[in-house]
Amino acid sequence: MEILNYINGQLQPALSGSWLDNYEPATAQVYGRLPDSGAEDVAAATISAKAAFPAWAKTPVGERARLLNRLADLIERDLDKLAAAESRDQGKPVALATRMDIPRAVDNFRFFATAIQHFASESHHTDGAAINYTLRQPIGVVGCISPWNLPLYLFSWKIAPALAAGNTVVAKPSEITPATAYLLCELCIEAGFPAGVLNIVFGLGPKVGQAMSEHPDIPAISFTGGTLTGATIARTAAPMFKKLSLELGGKNPNIIFADADYDKALNSAVRSSFTNQGEICLCGSRLLIERSIYERFRSDFVAKVKALTVDDPITNPDLGAIVSQPHFEKVLSYIQLAQEEGGKLLTGGKAVKVSGRCEKGWFIEPTVFENLPNSCRTNQEEIFGPVVTLIPFDTEAEALAMANDTVYGLAAQLWTENLSRSQRMSSALKFGIVWVNCWLLRDLRTPFGGAKASGVGREGGWDALKFFTEATNVCIRY
Ligand code: NAD
Repeated sequence: MEILNYINGQLQPALSGSWLDNYEPATAQVYGRLPDSGAEDVAAATISAKAAFPAWAKTPVGERARLLNRLADLIERDLDKLAAAESRDQGKPVALATRMDIPRAVDNFRFFATAIQHFASESHHTDGAAINYTLRQPIGVVGCISPWNLPLYLFSWKIAPALAAGNTVVAKPSEITPATAYLLCELCIEAGFPAGVLNIVFGLGPKVGQAMSEHPDIPAISFTGGTLTGATIARTAAPMFKKLSLELGGKNPNIIFADADYDKALNSAVRSSFTNQGEICLCGSRLLIERSIYERFRSDFVAKVKALTVDDPITNPDLGAIVSQPHFEKVLSYIQLAQEEGGKLLTGGKAVKVSGRCEKGWFIEPTVFENLPNSCRTNQEEIFGPVVTLIPFDTEAEALAMANDTVYGLAAQLWTENLSRSQRMSSALKFGIVWVNCWLLRDLRTPFGGAKASGVGREGGWDALKFFTEATNVCIRY
């Protein structure tokens, strides 16, 4: 597959003529190439977005919504093709891409096409003498930078509200998973998007992403990715006072009380630990389990994890391939670290050899450790792979203290049938999201994002539309 930049409505290679290899994680083979773009491509994309902005910002909201809905329809039409491309590029089971990634990309476009038509702003009567209202207008050219774990899903999560609100966009998907973003370019052309409204530049983060952060004509950036990258973007953008939305890493606790619905908690723990090979920022990686059920839970959990299959993503196993060789090596190095830190390996721990076309692919067994204190590196650093630890606790206070004892604050899970406890814990957990008796149950209207080192700002619903607009307070004296 040859991927091209989408700039000013045209598909074109990088201006330098350089290319990067694109790998299939399941086979570790190069199967395509993408532009190795640089600052000059970002500059061209920004010029095109800037030129397209006045007309797009004035386009009636119903027409913008119609185009977004048309794009959603085309994604839905091509669901199987897109899911196959996502699975091949990312390593996830094709059924997961079919069930989750691509339908959620469709939902993102449809949701914001509708939301923008209901977007309203506040007004205030002031002491019977004036009326204040808030004018929310598009910002201009905005930058969207996304990661490799849920490629089209997270790319569309940013592009859809940015475009709906009337901005024009320069966007950069991860260089590790560019395929579905490229297929989206083709669908935008088919949908009849005006040239320059959406521009997609492919290439490396430190070149393309950095150039976007530095560009003076991109005053707002929505970024999802690692915490260190977020810090680099913030450092670059701060002196220009850019508006930033940063969705970063996590080290999420999954707290299971003895009064939980045991079977639901157990089954959900398996899912939330290993879906997408554990490569979801919302996966629970520290399982905190009340001591009175610890032994039983450990034994049932390990039995279920041992039964999970790891195989060629096209055969729809439970776990597919790890996204890249560097990430594969990183996850294995954390498995090594956990053992050095005194962790007891309960299951997994090794790379998996899949025979046939996948014999060179990057596969890792779902891995479970215990005997590691919450303070050790294994329990503090984001692994972002199929590795979890089990930690017993005695009291609610202890569970809360361990859950919060991390620099991250993305998502916590809580399993209890005690309503009062769920309220107490939810308000004391320092996380952007608290799931009580569920996981990954998403409502696109809710604020999405992390506390502490997991990010700045919230996306989703009105929060996304507020981020992608600039507010002007208009005060009219009467
Ligand atoms: P990453 O930070 O390496 O890359 C993310 C994106 O940033 C990529 O497109 C990359 O090319 C780009 N980038 C890299 N260096 C850059 C720079 N200097 N300037 C600008 N852009 C740059 O992250 P990743 O490895 O692709 O994704 C995994 C991380 O993303 C994990 O930490 C995970 O927790 C996080 N994540 C967070 C959320 C969330 O909603 N909070 C969702 C998914 C993933």
